[in-house]
Amino acid sequence: MKTIGLMGGMSWESSLEYYRIINKEVQKRLGGVHSAKCLMYSVDFAEIEVLQHRGDWPELARILSQVGQALEAGGADFLVLCTNTMHKVASEIETAVSIPLLHIADPTADKIKSRGFKKVGLLGTRFTMEDDFYRGRLEGQHGLEVLVPDESDRDTVHKIIYQELVIGRLEQESKNKFASIIKKLSQQGAEGVILGCTEIGLLVKKKDSILPLFDTTAIHAEAAVNLALM
Ligand code: GLU
Repeated sequence: MKTIGLMGGMSWESSLEYYRIINKEVQKRLGGVHSAKCLMYSVDFAEIEVLQHRGDWPELARILSQVGQALEAGGADFLVLCTNTMHKVASEIETAVSIPLLHIADPTADKIKSRGFKKVGLLGTRFTMEDDFYRGRLEGQHGLEVLVPDESDRDTVHKIIYQELVIGRLEQESKNKFASIIKKLSQQGAEGVILGCTEIGLLVKKKDSILPLFDTTAIHAEAAVNLALM
């Protein structure tokens, strides 16, 4: 079994999910008292969040490259960056280490394509919904068509993530907002919706959505187990 290097704390609410899913999955596949070999470097999200909103991506790339290097030095065989947003600096991290980084968008796209879907909605932070690093990969490398909510709904999703989900607040009102945004995406032709922020799955469940959900936390964690056991 390979050792998984988890880059966590963005936020810890979802890192906990990665840890739980990865260990459950290893136990399910290997049986007995098996569990995952992994290391987690968990950052202080307050330091990360301020740099994100200031737009200081070079500094974020520097910090996360150091995190990646620390995990590599600690014995990780590959890296799992437990946040969609910070994949904005994935290529800088890859350059800084000599172990592979399992990009969150790739197993997500594979799952969508395995369902035969071509057009999907994407929910996440403003950075994930608006910048090219994520949509560009889904569209350019995987041939998917990606729909995002309109400006005001993107603002709603972004605020719910940063003001509630990353601090563990799960509100019915926000759940309803997600449900109606997903409905609009479906009216625009989306066949499924990517929960492209690792905390959304804590709030939005299958029963809240008219469309099939692609929860990046679960998909990414499962892909990490596939790679660890390969
Ligand atoms: N966990 C979130 C994501 O998947 C948002 C927090 C962050 O900005 O890293 O994008």
